[in-house]
This record gives sequence, structure tokens and C-alpha cells, in this order.
Amino acid sequence: MTKQYKRVLLKLSGEVFGGGKLGVDPETLRGISKEIADVVNRGVQVAVVVGGGNYFRGAELSQSGIARDRADYMGMLGTVMNSIALSDFLEKEGVNTRVQTAITMGQVAEPYIPRRAERHMEKGRLVIFGAGSGMPYFSTDTVAAQRALEIGAEVLLMGKQGVDGVYNADPVKDPSATKFEHLTFDQFLAEDLKVADATAIALARDNDLNIVFFNLSEPGNIARVVDGEQIGTLVTR
Ligand code: UDP
Repeated sequence: MTKQYKRVLLKLSGEVFGGGKLGVDPETLRGISKEIADVVNRGVQVAVVVGGGNYFRGAELSQSGIARDRADYMGMLGTVMNSIALSDFLEKEGVNTRVQTAITMGQVAEPYIPRRAERHMEKGRLVIFGAGSGMPYFSTDTVAAQRALEIGAEVLLMGKQGVDGVYNADPVKDPSATKFEHLTFDQFLAEDLKVADATAIALARDNDLNIVFFNLSEPGNIARVVDGEQIGTLVTR
């Protein structure tokens, strides 16, 4: 028996936007927007946290000599570009959206106001959270867990590009890697799995927020995971 979720937080990492390259790939974004529109049209309340790895990752950029905190702000600004692009593609699919950012920029987005975000969702609008937490040294995975908790999402859905869950090694590099169907938060942390950062997992564990890692590249998977079908890897207490 599957359970359809009523309110979900979907995390889209930057690589999803770029289709593996720098910038935004319109075809990929159009496809994902259609799938998201499909679940919103069925009455599911959806909020999205957007990553920015298709532009900058602070930790990588700081290797080139830019101070880590500045590099992280550049990373956060990248997530805003993705948020604007996603909002536009979703609106073309007929979904009403609002972008809220953790760094205030009134011309392009509302500030992050959680109660207002909930109100938007109740009215059938999809809310996109950009600019991460507004704080360097954090990741958008951690923000996804925090936003999910604050807006009362039932589950955190981590959409991955081309990987259908959590493996014990990188399946792209190691063909003998095996997939976990289910993991506890403690197992995830003990195995030091790199698919999400430890801060995000610890926050979810401490507040009992289930996470599903699933493959976004497989058409129809957003609807499947929202319908509670057992796909990908489920991480629970
Ligand atoms: N970032 C940050 N604080 C946050 C969220 C993100 O400083 O709260 C910066 C950080 O440099 C990160 C970049 O923004 O590398 C892009 O986010 P992330 O790496 O999480 O994106 P993803 O891997 O999901 O594409």
C-alpha cells in the first residue's frame, strides 16, 4: 500500500540544471518542470530547494585562491540564477510559483518568510527557495532539510542526476558498487556516504525527517516518489 504525500520538499542539485555542464540546459529543465507540474496539478504541495553546483561550489572555488566565504556567496548567488530559471520554466507549464531567497534581493525574489511560503503552497503555488541559507560553510542539502522541517514537509526528496539511490561506493567509478534500498541515518553517517553532507543527515535524524534519494533522469520518477512508491533509497530513523 503506497501513501501519497501531500506536502514535499524537493531538492534539485545544480548538476540537474546544467545537465552535467556549466549553466542551464533548457531541455533538461523543461522535462523536469513538466514532471513537477504534473504532481502540483494533482494537488500536491511542493517546495523546491535549488543547488548551484552547475555554477560554483565554494569549496572548489576556494582552491583557486578566492576566500572560502566569498566563494560560498558566489555559490549561493548561483542557486538564485537556477531558481529564476526554474520558476520561468514552471510558469510556462502553468504552475504558479514564488521564489524566496535567504539573501534579500527584492527585484527578483521575496525574502524567505516561512509562514508566507506555507500560505503560497496552500493556495497551490510552488515555492522555490534560493540562495541557500544565506550563510557560508553550509550546503543546499542542509538547507533542504531545514526548510522541509520549517514548512512541515512530510518528506525530503533528493533528486539525483543519473544515480538511482545511495550506493556503498560511487557507481559511476566502481561497477561493483551496490545500492541500499533502505538505510538508517546512523548507518548513513557511520559509512560516511558522500551523496549528502553529514550536517543535513544529522539534522534530519534529530528531527525525524525521512529522506528519499532517487533518480531524476528516469521519466516519471517525481510522480512515483510523491506517490510513495519504493524507488531509490529511503533513509529513516
Ligand atoms: N552555499 C553556501 N551556503 C548555503 C548553501 C550553499 O555557502 O547555505 C554555497 C556553497 O559554496 C555551495 C554552493 O553554494 O558549494 C552551491 O550549493 P551546493 O554545493 O549545495 O549545490 P549542489 O551541490 O546541490 O548543486
